[in-house]
Amino acid sequence: MDDHRIADAKRKGMAAIMQQLDITGLKRGGVEWTGPCPNCGGTDRFSINTRKSQFLCRQCGGKGDEIGLVQFIMGLDFIGALEWICGPKQQLSEAEIAKRAARDAENKARKEREAKAYHDKAVREGREIWEAGRPAEDSPVRDYLALRGITRDLFPKLPVCLRFHPALPYMLPNPDRGSRNQWIEIYRGPAMLAAVQGMNDRFCAVHRTWFDLDQPQGKARIPDPVTGEPLKRKKGYGAKKGGAIRLHNGAANNRTLVMAEGIETTLSALIADAYPGAHYWAGVDLGNMSGQRITGRGLKYAGIPDLEDAEAFLPPPWVDRLIFVKDGDSDPRDTQAKLEAGIRRAMVNRPGLRGQIVACPDGKDLNDVLLDGDGDE
Ligand SMILES: [Zn+2]
Repeated sequence: MDDHRIADAKRKGMAAIMQQLDITGLKRGGVEWTGPCPNCGGTDRFSINTRKSQFLCRQCGGKGDEIGLVQFIMGLDFIGALEWICGPKQQLSEAEIAKRAARDAENKARKEREAKAYHDKAVREGREIWEAGRPAEDSPVRDYLALRGITRDLFPKLPVCLRFHPALPYMLPNPDRGSRNQWIEIYRGPAMLAAVQGMNDRFCAVHRTWFDLDQPQGKARIPDPVTGEPLKRKKGYGAKKGGAIRLHNGAANNRTLVMAEGIETTLSALIADAYPGAHYWAGVDLGNMSGQRITGRGLKYAGIPDLEDAEAFLPPPWVDRLIFVKDGDSDPRDTQAKLEAGIRRAMVNRPGLRGQIVACPDGKDLNDVLLDGDGDE
């Protein structure tokens, strides 16, 4: 469409549009703002990424750029949103149009450079955390895994992609935005580090699991300093999307890849040895295994992958059988839908691939099953 306001709206950028819309109630984590959806509510289903200039509601399926956000929130059509953002369309001279186009090209190139620098910095810092770790074998990581049912007897040799950090800081975005420090340390404790490798086999992120050997199953309790709510004890750092934690490489001619979300569940599946000779990788998080999905009315549990998401995990070309192990979850239908989307994404991208989802007993992940076993080993 020949309307200078489209470029004008993009030029303003997501942060300025958010301000113009006076959106409140979203929590900031780096370039990502998360909170309730202005359309359908909830608590954290809605997010705006100011670097990618995209918003997304996981529930009602609302998504788009700056103009889309204004349409979504103000209930306007496309032209209405342009009016709202930029005012009436102007008559521009050829010279002015050329000048603006040149400026936009420059801005685009600058943004791409910034995005690459941001990505490279995240990977570099993730690698620094990883390199500060020590070999996991004979370290407290052994004791932590034993508390999760993964004992030395069952799993004699820890993979090199796991390491131990004796006192890893847990950082949160600083709620005081006036402060010079963007991040604050709220906890420090021993952690299991895992290297996440991208499709190109290279290190792309570090995955961290804080543990506390004095707690049940070694699960560290890290309360939010403001609300007291328990925080996630597992976090990635770097560019984990598309990556995997390659816990066990199987036989050279084996083409089966078994993947669960978590390290512990993946190792439990490996120990259970239901697929002898297979490769066992952890998928880091469910969103990475699933990728973005087509959502909207009636589609919440349909498990349809949004194939425009080119960043989510895909099995390497040598895989001809992909098995997702379903972890126990508070919302098993949602987990199922995500895994189905991931399997379908893989099947579309890797013709001939057989996909399968292995369910665990209700409300438990494989790891819990292992712990509850009669222990005759
Ligand atoms: Zn919504």
